[in-house]
Amino acid sequence: MADTQFDLVVIGAGPGGYVAAIRASQLGMRVAVVEKRKTLGGTCLNVGCIPSKALLVASEKFSEAKHHLGAFGVKVGSVELDLPGMMKHKDEVVKSNVTGVDFLFKKNKVTRFTGLGSIKAAGIVTVTKDDGSSEDVAAKNILIATGSDVAPLPGVTIDEKRIVSSDGAIALDTVPARLVVIGGGVIGLELGSVWQRLGAQVTVVEYFDRILPTMDGEVSKQMQRIMAKQGLSFKTSTKVTSAVTEGEVVKLTIEAAAGGNAETLEADIVLVAIGRRPFTSGLGLEALGVALDERRRVKIDHHFQTNVPGIYAIGDVVAGAMLAHKAEEEGVVFAEILAGQTGHINYDAIPGVVYTWPEVASVGKTEEQLKAEGVAYKAGKFPFTANGRARSMNATDGFVKILADAKTDRILGAHIIGASAGEMIEELGLAIEFGASAEDIARTSHAHPTLTEAIKEAAMAVDGRAIHM
Ligand SMILES: Cc1cc2nc3c(=O)[nH]c(=O)nc-3n(C[C@H](O)[C@H](O)[C@H](O)COP(=O)(O)OP(=O)(O)OC[C@H]3O[C@@H](n4cnc5c(N)ncnc54)[C@H](O)[C@@H]3O)c2cc1C
Repeated sequence: MADTQFDLVVIGAGPGGYVAAIRASQLGMRVAVVEKRKTLGGTCLNVGCIPSKALLVASEKFSEAKHHLGAFGVKVGSVELDLPGMMKHKDEVVKSNVTGVDFLFKKNKVTRFTGLGSIKAAGIVTVTKDDGSSEDVAAKNILIATGSDVAPLPGVTIDEKRIVSSDGAIALDTVPARLVVIGGGVIGLELGSVWQRLGAQVTVVEYFDRILPTMDGEVSKQMQRIMAKQGLSFKTSTKVTSAVTEGEVVKLTIEAAAGGNAETLEADIVLVAIGRRPFTSGLGLEALGVALDERRRVKIDHHFQTNVPGIYAIGDVVAGAMLAHKAEEEGVVFAEILAGQTGHINYDAIPGVVYTWPEVASVGKTEEQLKAEGVAYKAGKFPFTANGRARSMNATDGFVKILADAKTDRILGAHIIGASAGEMIEELGLAIEFGASAEDIARTSHAHPTLTEAIKEAAMAVDGRAIHM
């Protein structure tokens, strides 16, 4: 056993684990992180948020140059795709982000162990290296931040060649002629958009009756219409029951979600994007008696502690939205509570963003949730067709919708489809965090001309007094 005892040993260096480690170190703890990947940053920085956004931005620029610059009076010669160049951009963005975490670990004196971490007993983490050797690390406290992995689909075997997960879909070496995306959630729509912009014919198969099924119903319906106009095809209320690869073609069997006649759908590449599942295998949790819930997520209390004293968990491996910034918030609050401070996360103020064109962003409750909870609410909506800045950008698709308590006017939820929706949603997240009313936003000056004026107008619309509509 290494002769030093750490105050905290974190297993997993994703946004949850690395942020918890840095914050704990800032608070004076002696901290180590065990990560099985050669690089830090977890799913998010290596194969998730960052590479997908690098490709989304790059493919958006390609599509803009090819199809949209002419409308602004900008003539370009022939526009060609340099896919290796685009992948190089993505790889460089990933590299600069993951090495940034290395720098932060050194700056904050976080000790790094490379290898597979497992918990031998409360207080001991075993690190098994690639060469099979292992060492035990002593820890007063252990944080499980092992994240999540691609959820498999029965009947469809991922080979990362023709049938890929998001890991394969961010690294294809040619543009597929036909891409079928199984799952109309965030990852499926984002990566489907990338390849559609680069020339693939994309079909999204979704089990539920609408894409983005957990988002506000009006948002998901409008987004489906917008993306269909862009050229993506959708088969909703449809399930995939099997996939067979024959040479260079994958034959998918699909049928109505409720059951019915089977049909065949052919694809050159299939992306399985039906969700992610918590990553708990190999940690030794069963032997320790660490309780998992019905979806095999690690069960924790309000202080992120499992049922075994001294063992904690945060991020994708516990319940809640599988989002990098949710994991980060939990990392910070966990470390502060461990240091004896008080901490709290308002999960209602955590935004969710879909980085399609236009973007979709949401915070707080959807109309469906408020109806189910029996909460009386007022909705104020403002379309980007009536916003000067959006017109100047040729980006008039979408709207801002604000949901406020009918009695108190307190903002309960907000939903945006539009250019930069992911940046704009922060104003509404802050409003929810501060318990602001729609009137508070309506009375706050918003610079003209900006897209954020649509937020002010939607807030005014809650009270039926939008000016520009
Ligand atoms: C394609 C894609 C796009 C995404 N885009 C976004 C986005 O735009 N915004 C957003 O908020 N979220 C996005 N996500 C989700 C986001 O990546 C996750 O929510 C986030 O990474 C969760 O952080 P985490 O720290 O809990 O786990 P992870 O980031 O999964 O990190 C866990 C780490 O633990 C390591 N590990 C696991 N087991 C062990 C072990 N036994 N020993 C040692 N190490 C171990 C893993 O190697 C991994 O590095 C995306 C995900 C994908 C796949």
